[in-house]
Amino acid sequence: MNTKKSGFNTKLIHAGELDDQFGSATVPIYQTSTFKFESAEEGARCFSGESNGYIYTRIGNPTIDALERQIAILENGFGGIAVSSGMAAVNVIYQALLASGDHMVSTDAVYGPSRAIMENHYVKYGVQSTYINTTDLAEIEKAFKPNTKVLFIETPANPTMDITDIAGCAEIAHKHGALLIVDNTFCSPYLQNPLDLGADILFHSMTKSINGHADIVGGIIVSKTEEMYKKLRGMMISLGCNMDPHQAYMVIRGLKTLGIRVDRATENAEKIAVFLENHPKIAWIKYPGLKSHPQYELGQRQMKASGSMISFGLTTGFEGAKKLMDNVQLCLLAVSLGGVETLIQHPASMTHSKVSKEGKLKAGITDDLIRFAVGIEDAEDIIDDLRQGLEKA
Ligand SMILES: *Cc1c(COP(=O)(O)O)cnc(C)c1O
Repeated sequence: MNTKKSGFNTKLIHAGELDDQFGSATVPIYQTSTFKFESAEEGARCFSGESNGYIYTRIGNPTIDALERQIAILENGFGGIAVSSGMAAVNVIYQALLASGDHMVSTDAVYGPSRAIMENHYVKYGVQSTYINTTDLAEIEKAFKPNTKVLFIETPANPTMDITDIAGCAEIAHKHGALLIVDNTFCSPYLQNPLDLGADILFHSMTKSINGHADIVGGIIVSKTEEMYKKLRGMMISLGCNMDPHQAYMVIRGLKTLGIRVDRATENAEKIAVFLENHPKIAWIKYPGLKSHPQYELGQRQMKASGSMISFGLTTGFEGAKKLMDNVQLCLLAVSLGGVETLIQHPASMTHSKVSKEGKLKAGITDDLIRFAVGIEDAEDIIDDLRQGLEKA
């Protein structure tokens, strides 16, 4: 298959295919920890890099490779590095690119644990960080220091739905000799391709849209250049946070329907956003597909569609939010996103509870904020559930 020329949904089905000896239609699960060598000489060649034969699953495995190749093709990158979780991807990136005395600039409303581990843990090794609202490019420019090595953004951000200009960030980072890293989890490769906009490295929590069925945890890093790919891969192998072959197989299976799932969830989210925006108990709503979103134009330009994530607050504040979460019947009260089922959660006390109170407030993660991850059920049923929940809120 000429994967360069074919469309996105064709790539979802065929990119990464393996030619195995039995002609399997799907990628087989190579559930093995180690691989036997033909001879001592062949073993030595595998280790020296002269042969690309498999050695040991932490280093590489055909099932995991198929997934890595496929995501790299979908994101137009040099190569992919599959890891055990999205947070493993974050830590491989931090460990590979930052040393004592280095500084990182990042989005204040990033995924809570991406920020919490930097501020609570990496600081002990002398890594400095500045968290700012990255929707304002002038603020980013101001936050740069001579020792800034990494600009780490998430767009749309979690859970404020703020949108950051990826191409603008790439320009600033490169002018200062820094690298631009993008957490592309919210969009998946279907809605946004940061490497095409100038980013150097991106990553996904594949736990979310890419796998899409809320049944595995996983992550992947994609690098634009071979040099950076080798550096990141070496760090992953040393840290030992590889993906498992069975986990990779599950993701490959889920990934096939990414396009139709995201289309459907987006269609639902657009209807739900309009319902919420017009509901008397909704104080505010942030959804990239609504003209009321502060970065609506940028979102339209940078993302292929508005996606399935909505944030909103009630006129009855935190008490109302709690009542809504306790009264929904169809939507699950659970963290995560990008799955086939609709989820509702409260970031201030759940996903972002480890970020300091001031950090949360400055980032706009207010106590009344509800994060809503739309699934692929019938939109009317989700709206009915919200309507009855809001009556009690
Ligand atoms: C879930 C998530 C992560 C972390 O991924 P895990 O697979 O849970 O480790 C990182 N970034 C974003 C935006 C996420 O939603």
